[in-house]
Amino acid sequence: MRQSQLFTKIERNAPKDEATVNAQLLARAGFVSKLMAGVYSYLPLGLRVLNRIEQIVREEMDAVGGQEISMPIIHPKANWMTTGGWDKIDVLFKLKSRTEKEYALGQSEEEVVTPLVMKYVNTYKDLPKAVYQINWKFRDELRSKSGLLRGVEFLMKDMYSFHATQEDFERYFAEVKKAYFKIFARLGLTAKATEASGGAFTQKISYEFMVLTDAGEDDILYCDACEFCVNVEIAKEKEGETCTRCGKGTLSQARASEVGNVFDLGQKFVKDFEVTFTDREGKKQHPVMGCYGIGISRLMGVIVEKFHDDRGIVWPDAVAPFAVHLLGISGADADAAYQSLQNAGIKVLYDDRDLSAGGKFAEADLVGIPWRMVVSPKLGEGTVELKRRDGAEAKVMGLPEAIETIKK
Ligand code: ATP
Ligand code: MG
Repeated sequence: MRQSQLFTKIERNAPKDEATVNAQLLARAGFVSKLMAGVYSYLPLGLRVLNRIEQIVREEMDAVGGQEISMPIIHPKANWMTTGGWDKIDVLFKLKSRTEKEYALGQSEEEVVTPLVMKYVNTYKDLPKAVYQINWKFRDELRSKSGLLRGVEFLMKDMYSFHATQEDFERYFAEVKKAYFKIFARLGLTAKATEASGGAFTQKISYEFMVLTDAGEDDILYCDACEFCVNVEIAKEKEGETCTRCGKGTLSQARASEVGNVFDLGQKFVKDFEVTFTDREGKKQHPVMGCYGIGISRLMGVIVEKFHDDRGIVWPDAVAPFAVHLLGISGADADAAYQSLQNAGIKVLYDDRDLSAGGKFAEADLVGIPWRMVVSPKLGEGTVELKRRDGAEAKVMGLPEAIETIKK
């Protein structure tokens, strides 16, 4: 894409009403634009990043047998009365039609998926089933001051699974937990799984996936020798204590952001909606249900919090909006390089604007694309300068060699 044609422009100054690094950098560089607290437009660069995160999550959910669907965001009140969520969930947005009918906006969708699955489950042969969606959620959050980390409108992947037995649920739960670690690793993040107390309706085992960052809103304790990790909110343990799990390591405390979680929902929702199946003995049973969330838009914010420096964003290759930022400087015509990169199947943002070299370099650093390629009259014909956004050294080389280096 030619930067002269890009819908957005770089802003010189950080917005005054944003306190966090992710919101400041993403707004300045034109990835997002705030409509009001916790509600953002995703602009061409930002939507590319969001789509790439979404695609990684989609691939790993497909790999564990999840089937993608899309459920409604506006729900009838009755479904939320059935589960008690209408009165119990403080973040639930409620609205009224002009004929005084009442609705809720999806903040999570057990109330839709449970009656939906009932249509297709009759006997044990119809189980297990796992469906997921990647869709916008709405929550009446009180504190939306962390940019993309806490939206009032935000993108979530929510998967739900249904099983004939507790054992089968536990097998699947472990499989999804593994897939989650894979997703976060593919995104360039290290996640720790805290053992949490469970959702509003259950005391069953669940895990929260935490990425260490000062911009997060959770405090966790973790062992430096084993995988033990808990949320401070619920923990009996204290910082500096010896780990009770392995007896070797010491517990450290840190701020973190919850990027996903997996919950054992037991039979709460299937009982509410009277979902049953006939087991092998011909007896009516309720299935066992699990839910699995990932904060897609929160992840975009967390990635910026983890990967930036004083000049701007440093996108990991896996989610970058483009692979190469091509700069034509001092009047150089970089059209030929642009064409060659595109022919090689490389995604390029081509800064073809009439702007000073210094200005282009500074803006490229702010936008944070992994490779910067410069074409300038100072370099010989067919020669370019190549630099990693996260590396110090720029190298001069022939265009074919540069393309090979990027492809690797
Ligand atoms: P939190 O404790 O941060 O409010 P939660 O326990 O309410 O999270 P869930 O209801 O389990 O979260 O939602 C699943 C995932 O959606 C979370 O792990 C998180 O990554 C993401 N998420 C939750 N609330 C928000 C929000 N307001 N903005 C952005 N992402 C969110
Ligand atoms: Mg919450």
